[in-house]
Amino acid sequence: MPEKALAAVKVGPSTTELRELDLPPVPDDAALMKVEIAGVCGTDVTQYRLPLRNGPLVMGHENVGYLARVGATFAAHKDMKEGDLVFLEHYLPCGHCEWDHIGEYRHCAATEWFYDATAIRYGYTSMAIAPGLWGGFSHYLYLPLNAVLHKVPNGLTPEAAGVATPMSNGIQWALFDGGIGYASTVLIQGPGQQGLCCLMASKRAGADLVIVTGTSKDTRRLDVAKAFGADHVVDVQKEDPLARILEITGGRGVDVAIDCTVGAGTAPTLLGIEALKRRGGTMVVQGEGNQEFPSFPIGRLTRKAITLKSARGHSYRAVELALHQLASHRFPLEMMMTHTFGLAQVDYAIKSVGGEGAPGAIHVSVLPWK
Ligand SMILES: [Zn+2]
Ligand SMILES: [Zn+2]
Repeated sequence: MPEKALAAVKVGPSTTELRELDLPPVPDDAALMKVEIAGVCGTDVTQYRLPLRNGPLVMGHENVGYLARVGATFAAHKDMKEGDLVFLEHYLPCGHCEWDHIGEYRHCAATEWFYDATAIRYGYTSMAIAPGLWGGFSHYLYLPLNAVLHKVPNGLTPEAAGVATPMSNGIQWALFDGGIGYASTVLIQGPGQQGLCCLMASKRAGADLVIVTGTSKDTRRLDVAKAFGADHVVDVQKEDPLARILEITGGRGVDVAIDCTVGAGTAPTLLGIEALKRRGGTMVVQGEGNQEFPSFPIGRLTRKAITLKSARGHSYRAVELALHQLASHRFPLEMMMTHTFGLAQVDYAIKSVGGEGAPGAIHVSVLPWK
C-alpha cells in the first residue's frame, strides 16, 4: 500500500492540477477505496466552471473501485472485505433521519452541499474537510462508515459498472418518478447519457412507444438511441418536434415527458407541457440553477392536470436495479461508453462532456491509474 495518492485537484474555476496527497490513517470504522473508474457527468461541467467555495477539492462523484484498506468495524458492518469491487453512491447520509430509513439518501440534510458548506458529498467537498479525499479523480478515496456502497455483481466490469449512476437516475426518473410501465408512451428530450438510460429503463419496463429528441449536433447520439430501442428520434432543429410527436401519436400526445437536456433553457419544459396527452400526463423536469422562467404557462399545466416531478438523483433501490440491469448485458452499452482519460486529462475529460473537448462524447470516464 503506497503512502501517497495522486489526485486531480480543482484549484480554481475550470482549473485543475495534479497533486500528491498523503493517504490518511484508516481507523477501525473506515476504509480506503482504490478508484478504478470515476464517471464524468453533466453536473461536473457546470460545477467545474464555478469559483471554489471552501478551498480546492477533488471532483468525481460517480465512483467504482476496490476496497483497498478496510477497518475491522467497517468490514463487520458492511459485510465487505479488501478486494471487493464496489459502487459508491455520492451521498454521505447521517443515517438516522426519515429519508435514510427508506433509502432516499439524496434528501438527507447531511448531504445538502448546495446550501450547507459543511455537508459532505463525494465530488463536491473541499479538501479543507479532513481527510480531504472526497472525490474520484484520485488514486484513492476515503470511506467513513456512513458511505453507501453496493457490491458490483459478478460479470460486470468496473468500466460497465461506471454507468451505474446515469442508469440509476434513468430508473429513478423514468420508472419511479415518471411511472412508466407496460404500454406507456414516452417523450425523452436529450439523447445524452441520462436520456439514453431513461430510454433503456422505459423499454425494459414495457413502454410501447419512446420518442427521443435531440439537436443536429446529437446525430450520433440519436443513432445510439435507435440502437437502444427508441421507436422514433426527432432532430428538433430539422423538424417541428410538437407537430412530429402529435403525428406519431395520432394526435393523442404522450403519457410521460422527461427532460434530460442540458443548457436548453425553458424550451424543453414548454414542449413537454404541449406534448403530453390531453389530461393526466406526468412531466419529469430538471431545472437549471437559478434559471428564470418568465410567463410559465401554469394555466396550461393545471388545465391538462399534469403531474410535475423533479429529476433529482436516485434512491438506494434504483442503484441496485441499475447494477442488475447493467449486469444483464441487454443493451450494447459500449456504444455509449465513448471515452476514457487518465488523471492528467481530467480538465479535458470534463470539457469533452460539455461538448468542448473530444468530439462524440456520450459517457466519459476517468481511469485514475491509466
Ligand atoms: Zn452526476
Ligand atoms: Zn439523514
